[in-house]
Amino acid sequence: MIPYGKQDINQDDIDAVNFVLKGDFLTQGNKVPEFEGIISRYVGVKHAVAVNSATSALHIACLALGVGKGDVVWTSPISFVASSNCALYCGAKVDFVDIDYQSSNMSVDALQKKLEKHRENNLPMPKVVIPVHMAGYSCDMQKIKQLADEYSFFVIEDASHAIGAIYQNQLVGCCEFSDITVFSFHPVKIITTAEGGMATTNNAGYAETMRLLRSHGIERGDQVQQKGGWCYEQSVLGFNYRMTDIQAALGVSQSKRLNQFINRRQECAKRYFECLQHLPIDFPPLEALPLSSWHLFVIKILNKDRREIFDALREKQIGVHVHYIPIYKQPYYRELGFSENYCPEAERYYSSALSIPIFHAMTDYQQDQVINKIAEVLV
Ligand SMILES: *Cc1c(COP(=O)(O)O)cnc(C)c1O
Repeated sequence: MIPYGKQDINQDDIDAVNFVLKGDFLTQGNKVPEFEGIISRYVGVKHAVAVNSATSALHIACLALGVGKGDVVWTSPISFVASSNCALYCGAKVDFVDIDYQSSNMSVDALQKKLEKHRENNLPMPKVVIPVHMAGYSCDMQKIKQLADEYSFFVIEDASHAIGAIYQNQLVGCCEFSDITVFSFHPVKIITTAEGGMATTNNAGYAETMRLLRSHGIERGDQVQQKGGWCYEQSVLGFNYRMTDIQAALGVSQSKRLNQFINRRQECAKRYFECLQHLPIDFPPLEALPLSSWHLFVIKILNKDRREIFDALREKQIGVHVHYIPIYKQPYYRELGFSENYCPEAERYYSSALSIPIFHAMTDYQQDQVINKIAEVLV
């Protein structure tokens, strides 16, 4: 089976992990700060806080922005459930903004209309909006930021798909148009630490709060230490969301190949645009080609039933997938009161979307197989 995504581990990665395993610190050593430094310099942001997953990063990002009971967080329904669960962890409520069918990102138009409608009708306004850079293509952050200023909400970018992606000549994660950005290093994403995530921000206060929250809410600063060398103080209720040095070492090593990973993914995407052009499918936006990190390549099946094509391709050993089931359709969210067709464009997208294989180590031969099998099942 050719998978839809796959990590790429080389001997340098293995050596880097082995080096940590033979050293004194498996966790809380110097590899985590080193990895944070690499990512913050790479994306061009002041602070980076590494944690054990993007899910954890989203949770403490919400907490750092003060999300709690009585608040509402808005996100995109076409995302992984973590984009929305993070608000529920904080005791807040969640609402969904419909997507733009072509880019599959949160529609700025829909966001604006929803904000207007909620303000006019005295409905709950969002404390935080979490746009998701679907498949690695950035949302229109400048416009979202304008709305954030007008309606006073915070912005967390869920860039789990989008490390290495470009928006307005800057790297996603620089937080020019957001308060905090979150990356995932799960093995299917662009670079991996097995499990792992990172939050970036230009706000020193948010960074400090997130550092505190990832480690039990415990401080061991100089002032605390003056009370005795053994002293630490828990000031808030935190978690153990720390990344280990083993993971960070893998991240440091992987990040050396980040540009190479992105270039190869863009090459693969370009080839799909060229070689599938004649088929009855909808493509991601062509403008995304040099900008997206191409975590996913999602086509939309126009002439046949998506389920039939999915099954036929799996049968032919092509590991296609579907990203994503609209979050509000999950049984847990149905229970919260969301109706079956809450976001019509998300529904339209979901009924035809199919993720086809794209990953750094995919060979041209493998890609030819994917292209040929797709052509076979669609005619
Ligand atoms: C993968 C993913 C997450 C969660 O990442 P983890 O590191 O697995 O917790 C969150 N949001 C989106 C959009 C994702 O794709």
